[in-house]
Amino acid sequence: MRPKAAADAGKPYPAKDWAVVVGLLAAATLAGLVLDGRVSLTSQAMLYVLAVVMASYRLAWVPSFFCAFAAALLLNFFFIPPRFTLQVEARENLIALATMLAVALVISHLGTALRRETQAARLNERRARELQELATELAGAQHPKDVASLGLAALQRSFEGPCVVALLTKSGDLDLPPALVPTFRDGMISCIKEAGMLGPGTGRWPGLDAWYVPLGEKGRISGAACIRNVSSYDHSGREHAQALCTLVGQALRRLQLTASMQAAQQQAQRHLAQNTFLAAISHDLRTPLAAIMGAASSLLTQREKLGAAEQERLLASILDESRYLSTLTENTLQLVRLRNPAQLNLDWVAMEEVVGAVLARVRQRDPARRIRSKVPPGLPLIKADAVLLAQLLENLLDNALKYSSDGIELTTTRAGQELQVAVEDRGSGIPAGEEEAIFEPYRRGDRSGQRGAGLGLAVCRAVAGAHGGSLTVRARAGGGSSFVLALPIEEHQPEQEAAP
Ligand code: ADP
Repeated sequence: MRPKAAADAGKPYPAKDWAVVVGLLAAATLAGLVLDGRVSLTSQAMLYVLAVVMASYRLAWVPSFFCAFAAALLLNFFFIPPRFTLQVEARENLIALATMLAVALVISHLGTALRRETQAARLNERRARELQELATELAGAQHPKDVASLGLAALQRSFEGPCVVALLTKSGDLDLPPALVPTFRDGMISCIKEAGMLGPGTGRWPGLDAWYVPLGEKGRISGAACIRNVSSYDHSGREHAQALCTLVGQALRRLQLTASMQAAQQQAQRHLAQNTFLAAISHDLRTPLAAIMGAASSLLTQREKLGAAEQERLLASILDESRYLSTLTENTLQLVRLRNPAQLNLDWVAMEEVVGAVLARVRQRDPARRIRSKVPPGLPLIKADAVLLAQLLENLLDNALKYSSDGIELTTTRAGQELQVAVEDRGSGIPAGEEEAIFEPYRRGDRSGQRGAGLGLAVCRAVAGAHGGSLTVRARAGGGSSFVLALPIEEHQPEQEAAP
């Protein structure tokens, strides 16, 4: 049942109420007539008092007061001598009649007051429950539209309506369906501008046919609600509408604050990342650049004085430092690019070809030929960005060369629906507890004095992730570390390309 009792104030009393009055008085009269001669006049009066008590328990004060007066008249007419007239013969009967009227009126007054208070208490209880329910529902809402529809549902549960809830857009207009604009927009915009409730009983724009309530407080209003079919006498309903809209406004404000806090956090994180990046990169760029400049300027200014071996050392150092710079730049750029996986250049790739090309390049830097590779024939193709995969493997092999002196193996195998490439070495391995940390950007675990920016493994993991795969490290049996790249194998292989 909707809480419309308060809204009934000021409306005419329904015919049903008058029928109840007539029925009760008729029943009391009939019973009095039936018992006439067998019971005293006092008992007959009591029958009317009973009718008044019942009427006051069920009806509003006007019909129940009417019932009290009518009961006194009927008692006089039917039972007080001279009967069937409105005259009263004996003085004591007059006193009895007046007493009965007074008792009936008092009872009627008490009854209707009690009934009104009970109704108000029930209504308040239900409204408190509705507010609590709405607060609970709103706590879980993650989007302003969800908040608006929860608010609308709550208003529609509480009021006869129809009700409308609209949010303010960024341009300052209302997000209302076009069909509702002519009816609701002006009132809603006005209540937002005035930052207060408008409509019947509010003291502002009482001529309106509905309540217009802003969602939120002055300066923080996120929308408005409209509730139609309301009465200017319904004070508690107005307060309830206001309370519901305040809750909705607070929930919208909470979402706004959360969003701006997240944006601020993201910005702070971006700044932090930029600062860390700049700090890391500036150190890592400066050192090799200084070395290149030093070697190049020595060669330029003192070439005649330098012996052939020294000149060669300087040239080798320029090459070495430039290569380091090139890897660093490449890794940095990839890390930035990989934040947007849409930039992957996917194609069918044969892993043996990628491995072959990478080995050819890396072995140039590894004249001792420390790397052994095992690639079985007939491996499936994978959908991948060949350039990125090559960079991933090159980083892993460079690390293996850098952090170990021997026993480097590159093994490609198929394991179920995955293609696995393991790069293993016999170096010092990864210290326990750092197996995940070494994949974070700018994170270095090396204590052997090897040069690095801590970007290589971060790029490797980002590449693996962008391909729907994974890159993990574990200790290698017998010492050293084993980095395993796992890439998913597509179920449907391209036929022509698959054929060798
Ligand atoms: P960088 O090599 O520039 O420091 P990486 O991201 O490639 O950056 O590696 C991060 C850390 O992981 C390194 O500092 C090193 O401590 C550790 N690491 C990487 N590869 C190996 C390896 N093969 N053996 C031992 N430690 C390794």
